[in-house]
Amino acid sequence: MGKITDDDRKRMARCCCKQCGGPLKMKVVVYDPYGGHDVEMFCEHCHKIEYGTEKEIYNLAARFIDNYQYNYFMDMVEDERSEQMNTAKLCEIIGWVFSELGLIGEDGIIKDKLPEFDI
Ligand SMILES: [Zn+2]
Repeated sequence: MGKITDDDRKRMARCCCKQCGGPLKMKVVVYDPYGGHDVEMFCEHCHKIEYGTEKEIYNLAARFIDNYQYNYFMDMVEDERSEQMNTAKLCEIIGWVFSELGLIGEDGIIKDKLPEFDI
C-alpha cells in the first residue's frame, strides 16, 4: 500500500488537476475485491486518479487553448470534455518543456530563474 509523503502533501497543496484545474485530494482507491488498495492523488470533479500539474502550467495551457484553438484529439466531438483533455495534453507538453529546461524543482516552478514570469 502506498503512503502519502510530505512531498505528496506539498504537491497536493501546490498543484491542480491537469484536466479541470480543480484541487487534488487524497483518496483510498480500491483495486480488487480482496482489499487491494492504495492512497492516490485524486480529482473529485473528474473522478480520476490525477498526479496534477503546476498551477502556472495549467494557466499557460488554458491561455494557449484560448489563443490558438489547439486540438490534439481530432476524432473527438468538440465539447467541454475534449477541451479538458486538450488542456491536460498541453499541460503534459508544457510541463515537459519546463522540466527539460530545469525550471521545475521539488517545490514547483523555480521562479528565481524566471524574473519576468507573471502568470
Ligand atoms: Zn479534474
